[in-house]
Amino acid sequence: MLVDYHMHLRAHGSASEELDHTAEAVERYVEQARERGVDEIGITEHVYYFRETRDFWSLPYQLERSRAELRDYCDAVLEAKSHGLPVKLGLEVDWVPDRADELAEVLEPYPWDYLIGSVHWIGGLAVDQKPGLWAGSTVEEVWALYARELEAAARSGHFDVLAHPDLVKIFGDRVEWDWQPSIDALDGVALEVSTAGLHKPVGELYPDASLLRGAKRITLASDAHRAEDVGRDFEAAVEHARAAGFETVTVFDGRSSRQEPLG
Ligand SMILES: [Zn+2]
Ligand SMILES: [Zn+2]
Repeated sequence: MLVDYHMHLRAHGSASEELDHTAEAVERYVEQARERGVDEIGITEHVYYFRETRDFWSLPYQLERSRAELRDYCDAVLEAKSHGLPVKLGLEVDWVPDRADELAEVLEPYPWDYLIGSVHWIGGLAVDQKPGLWAGSTVEEVWALYARELEAAARSGHFDVLAHPDLVKIFGDRVEWDWQPSIDALDGVALEVSTAGLHKPVGELYPDASLLRGAKRITLASDAHRAEDVGRDFEAAVEHARAAGFETVTVFDGRSSRQEPLG
């Protein structure tokens, strides 16, 4: 079985990242998945796009976006589900160290199949945009900060999967890194094998084999922001997962998981 468990619904042909939280959009993404041999997709909008979470954000980038309604988003995915489409309801949730429990409470009433945890910003500075965190710190410091937050997110118990687990390598700025403390923090949280990194400056899958090998379970992810990218480069993702010893992929349903044969 192949799943693509990380994507964002955007209007067709939109260069401006215009949201399209509709069952029709889900259908377009499912069609692309079928063409690439992907059996099931999961929709995972960024948590900061929603009015209900607005109080958690401080950056203009986030506040400009927090306008959609969580209920409308969930309803669109549930409607697609009710039409028999192979789609799961997820969300990409930024790690907010000080208020993670409070954010989890805001999200609690909705019928998620799974929640993905992401570390995009640390102390208001971006990991995946420059200058961001990179301006005032050495590469080693940025890696250490990132790993610390990733571990805290894993240990929080709020997430089923961690997104793009070694995002910190995005620009190709790297140091020798021991991922063992991060692996120890996972305790059953899945890592996604993400093809998005192939299209970033680093030009590699997330995560490195040294981190991936420590995971107990995995998902596959394109991080598509348009239908055309669903299931992109999944041959490489499956090969990377197999090389790290994985024979199964995780399937989520109502925040429970099971394993299915990979491929
Ligand atoms: Zn992300
Ligand atoms: Zn994403």
